[in-house]
Amino acid sequence: MKRGFKTEARKLALELRAELGVDAYGKFDPYALAAEYGIPVFLLSDLGQDPAAREAAAHYARDGSVTFSAALVPASSRRLILDNDAHDPRRRRNSVSHEISHLVLEHEFGQVLLTRDGYRPFSPDNEEEADWLGGELLIPYGAAERAARLDWDDEQVAETYDVSIPLARMRMNYSGARRVIANKRAYRSRNLQTRSAP
Ligand SMILES: [Zn+2]
Repeated sequence: MKRGFKTEARKLALELRAELGVDAYGKFDPYALAAEYGIPVFLLSDLGQDPAAREAAAHYARDGSVTFSAALVPASSRRLILDNDAHDPRRRRNSVSHEISHLVLEHEFGQVLLTRDGYRPFSPDNEEEADWLGGELLIPYGAAERAARLDWDDEQVAETYDVSIPLARMRMNYSGARRVIANKRAYRSRNLQTRSAP
């Protein structure tokens, strides 16, 4: 990950959310962002109707079975996203956020980009950046901070932002928001004690 990328991603995520009319606290819709960028999202189950398309999709997957969550695929001069709708919707929201992040960050790629569970070789730096921006889009730093202030547990965060519990936990931990809030509270109560001392 480039130096300063996390700070950059924090700002960028808020700008992208604002394009969709969503502030730091609202629920993010990765499909709406894809539409905003003119990127069509195809469901694998729809491709299944078309044997050639199905075969092409399976081509990108390990031993012929479709194991990836989402893929960003070049189609002549355009890009499209393949969305594996056999997977859990919350996992798919994260995967589509990841793929659209590659696009927004203008990551160069030769053939096809898959989520981490795919098998294609990838640039670890680019993957980290797309993961990070995807996370900021789904749960911005400010949202994690507010959740910490409200004493939400990981389940509440996951429910509110429609993400998996592991992702909610990761965002809450990475943001350090709970620790910051706990420190602030400790500081405030120490101050109150000092002030009320005779
Ligand atoms: Zn990726």
